[in-house]
Amino acid sequence: MWAQVVHQWGQEVVYEQVSDPVPKPDEVLIRVEACGVGRTVLNYIGGQLGARPEQLPRIPGHEAVGVVVQAGDAVRGIRPGDSVMAYFYLVCGDCDFCRQSHEPLCRNFAGNVGVARDGGYAEYLVLPAVNALPLPGGISPVQATVIPDAVATPLHVCRRASIGPGDVAVIFGAGGGVGIHMIQMVRVFGADPIAVDLGEPKLQAARSAGAVAAIDFTAPDFADQVRRAAPRGATVAIDFVGQPDTLAHALEILDRRGRLVVLTTFPGVMFPVSPRQMVLTELTIMGSRYASRWEVAQAARLVAEGKITPVVSEVVPLAEVGRLHDRLRRGLLVGRGAVVPAPR
Ligand SMILES: [Zn+2]
Repeated sequence: MWAQVVHQWGQEVVYEQVSDPVPKPDEVLIRVEACGVGRTVLNYIGGQLGARPEQLPRIPGHEAVGVVVQAGDAVRGIRPGDSVMAYFYLVCGDCDFCRQSHEPLCRNFAGNVGVARDGGYAEYLVLPAVNALPLPGGISPVQATVIPDAVATPLHVCRRASIGPGDVAVIFGAGGGVGIHMIQMVRVFGADPIAVDLGEPKLQAARSAGAVAAIDFTAPDFADQVRRAAPRGATVAIDFVGQPDTLAHALEILDRRGRLVVLTTFPGVMFPVSPRQMVLTELTIMGSRYASRWEVAQAARLVAEGKITPVVSEVVPLAEVGRLHDRLRRGLLVGRGAVVPAPR
């Protein structure tokens, strides 16, 4: 089959022919119909999850959607012909956290699809059956690529941070794939989203997605603009950028009793927090890690019901994924991108 392959962490993928994957008894073989392209894939290809040479060569892509063509002998509940989407954390399904529907905290976590095992930048993909989640009808494969990460992750944020009516949530990195769906999800939960990003195209997309205000991060009066947009104060800040300056700005604009939700991380990145400030303002800082399998299913339901509209702005053939990577690196891709394998 044709696939995009990482031969060196940190270098661009290579389009080449590789052997078709074969499923083990507890795995399924999926014909990939589409795979999402976003900043997270670039971070993975860049080696942010460890850059282990023993994991090479590797087919990246964790937001895969497709049709099951073969199920291993031990697989129950999934049949050839089923439309599925990838749950991209490799979890055991048996530990206490998995059993409480906190799979991202799995005690036997084995890594991510697209890093620890091959992902969806290919014509075919083999996944453990536990990682192939049913896709509701009526959603196109390209639209569905946003569900497993870009819609499910915001759903978990809203539940984790108890976002609800009366909240004003400021989203840093709101014009990217996860951010643009975070805007919509904040509204689904009854709160007001304020978008923060760089450049007019992303700010415009954020407004279209439902942001009550969209503010350029580099504006000299940035904090004042946030205060004008949220006169009663920002109650939640959600950071998808993961840099010391965005985190510092997030702390600066939060009102008393504010909650800072941290999602994007890089090795070695730290930011200063004053314990005194935490106490005086009753500040809460929380991490939010991906989403449970149940939350991914709920995310799919919200898309099927039309409550969340997938924002996939650019779709290219699998062979041309490098073009999308390039636009992502230059900060030009609005929302998510997707690749589609050539028909065989
Ligand atoms: Zn587990």
